[in-house]
Amino acid sequence: MNTRRHFIKNALGLSSLLLGGAFFIGSCGNGEKAAKDTGKSHKPASCSDLSGISEEEIEKRKRLGYVEETPIPDNKCGNCKLYLPPGEGESCGTCSLFKGPVEENGYCTYYAPLS
Ligand code: SF4
Repeated sequence: MNTRRHFIKNALGLSSLLLGGAFFIGSCGNGEKAAKDTGKSHKPASCSDLSGISEEEIEKRKRLGYVEETPIPDNKCGNCKLYLPPGEGESCGTCSLFKGPVEENGYCTYYAPLS
């Protein structure tokens, strides 16, 4: 009888179908969530453009006291350990603490000087 072979073949086919479906569902969406969550995949129009950033991340920026112009000239994002300079073709850097664009002359209360 081919019952066992038939069962294994069907089980493999079903597994492939379920995995394919899970992958399809996982990759669905309008892309808006990914852009809002990363803050990096969305190219901001300026370093003040937070349109691609989630409300949670905007709140985090505020909680950390981020400002676009440092009140302490010697302490700014551009010479902070947590600053990530702009990539090629980008005008704004980012910060390791939160998502979204960061001004090189910005500042927050977590400033950590480069030694
Ligand atoms: S930790 Fe603060 S000062 Fe340092 S890069 Fe991030 S926002 Fe700028």
